[in-house]
Amino acid sequence: MNTTPTMNLSHLPDERGYFGEYGGSFIPPQLATILDEITDAYEHLRNDEDFHTELAGLLRHYSGRPTPVYHARRLSAALGGADIYLKREDLNHTGAHKLNHCLGEALLARRMGKKKLIAETGAGQHGVALATAATLVGLACDIYMGAVDIEKQRSNVSRMQMLGARVIPATAGRGTLKEAVDLAFEEYVKDPVTQFYAIGSVVGPHPFPSMVRDFQRVVGDEARGQFQELTGRLPDMLAACVGGGSNAIGLFTAFLGDSGVELVGVEPSGRGLSRGDHAATLTLGRPGVLHGFRSIVLCDEAGIPDPVHSIGSGLVYPSVGPQHSHLRDIGRVRYVTASDEEAVDAFFRLSRTEGIIPALESAHAVAFAIREAPRLSPGAAILVNLSGRGDKDLDHVLEHHGDRIS
Ligand SMILES: *Cc1c(COP(=O)(O)O)cnc(C)c1O
Repeated sequence: MNTTPTMNLSHLPDERGYFGEYGGSFIPPQLATILDEITDAYEHLRNDEDFHTELAGLLRHYSGRPTPVYHARRLSAALGGADIYLKREDLNHTGAHKLNHCLGEALLARRMGKKKLIAETGAGQHGVALATAATLVGLACDIYMGAVDIEKQRSNVSRMQMLGARVIPATAGRGTLKEAVDLAFEEYVKDPVTQFYAIGSVVGPHPFPSMVRDFQRVVGDEARGQFQELTGRLPDMLAACVGGGSNAIGLFTAFLGDSGVELVGVEPSGRGLSRGDHAATLTLGRPGVLHGFRSIVLCDEAGIPDPVHSIGSGLVYPSVGPQHSHLRDIGRVRYVTASDEEAVDAFFRLSRTEGIIPALESAHAVAFAIREAPRLSPGAAILVNLSGRGDKDLDHVLEHHGDRIS
């Protein structure tokens, strides 16, 4: 059965940064010139061979790419049905896919003559990856983080500080990610000339959704070739968790034109689908504008963003990259959900069948594959993006589910 449309989507976004009706740039006028400069610099660099050679060299020799595609035989055999394969982004330096785009953004910022990278961080994962990239290319780094998050994520704060970054607390409001975004943005507007705001996913105003996608597409470009080498064919299905959507779009991009490959994005249904209990944007959101771009947003009728929750802190975001909203509307990607509980089950299951402890974010995609594999015929294959490793989540999981350890 082949119901997936074939389409060439490589022309997107359009010149104004739109993927269909989503994307664009909704920013204060004083930032318009700066964003145009970033767009121009990126347009120039994406065709610059030296830039690609330098980035490819860092990805290979510093981050450890290519990451392997691994056939999870024991997990597959235990489930019956389809075979499950993992793209091992957890094996990157710093433990997740985020370094792929942080290295790209850091090199771009240095070529533009910027002196400092700045960003907000929630649980600290983007902050750690960016602090790493900043140090490597010789730029200063300021990371804005909610005061409450700083208390919760001490080890990531220490990592950023050890790497030479300044961690600046956002004390307003509830002292979490939203306040950190507000503060980082305020500081950026004060000096957008020497600072570069390095966005942590395929979100934000144009050109960030397409630029971060282009830096992440290495994941799918590698995986497509590796999978063919292993099996002589393409997978039947891809699965990736979706927070802002960078690891998912990174895996999907190389396969968008393969009509026989079904693409599945997995959002967190958290504790359930009531407002405040989840971050299942594409399942329950509505069109709106947040953080400088138009997409699907979890918000009330007045456009005020909903509180969001997931056990995977990297998935806690009330919107999603504009290209995902478009891919949903045109039917090229199917978006489903996995709950906190399913993610924890998958966390244990992958650890104990394959000796791989996944990030709780990635465990959402694994949970989907565990649910789906028995429904597919033997011989079918699901390729899961294992976006990160789970060491960072062990304390939390053991504190709340330690009774499962005998
Ligand atoms: C940050 C993070 C995510 C979510 O971000 P995306 O942009 O949706 O990929 C997923 N997995 C891991 C391990 C992360 O650190």
